[in-house]
Amino acid sequence: MVAPPTTNDHRDIDGLPASISEVPVTIQTACLSCGTPARSASSTFCGRCGLPFGTEPPSHVELPSCPVCYRSSDDDGRFASQVHAGLRLDLPRHVAEHEQHPVGDDDYLESLREGARIRIGRWMAPFDLVRRYLVTGSLDGGRRRQFEHDLIVTAMTQLARFGPNAVILGDQPEWRAARDAVAELMERFHRPAGTRLFA
Ligand SMILES: [Zn+2]
Ligand SMILES: [Zn+2]
Repeated sequence: MVAPPTTNDHRDIDGLPASISEVPVTIQTACLSCGTPARSASSTFCGRCGLPFGTEPPSHVELPSCPVCYRSSDDDGRFASQVHAGLRLDLPRHVAEHEQHPVGDDDYLESLREGARIRIGRWMAPFDLVRRYLVTGSLDGGRRRQFEHDLIVTAMTQLARFGPNAVILGDQPEWRAARDAVAELMERFHRPAGTRLFA
């Protein structure tokens, strides 16, 4: 267990090396159960779920998950650092690591965004669903059913299931065109690949 950080220890918060401390993270600590940052340096309990900071998540609660890469934390509520082997990060610090190690080209994705939707070729599709597919390669089953008549969602479902070069029984030109558009977006989102955090 990591001791709660003290306010006079800016150089080595939670044991972070100086190179990480240079990232503009001003959060002193965060809840390991829900990921909520402390309200102030003197807070000892999470303002959201009431757990003392530093307590591992109870087994019955859902672990904190990253809004950038969608991964859930490990059982201790922390994520392995992708930069410093052996270092364990709480959710805000894990999210901060994505600044240097993005999962893809989010600036490009945002340029295609129109509110809650994203423009892909001549189609529109739910932004969050598409981004999750681009990052994880899979679709959220419950939400996929919600949008089952969306051509792009159909295309992503087919790609996730069969891959980009599959011969699909009863294939339709419109489906293929939508799959090509999604595959092109996938390729563009992950270029350049060298800076990604997760393959
Ligand atoms: Zn909490
Ligand atoms: Zn992440």
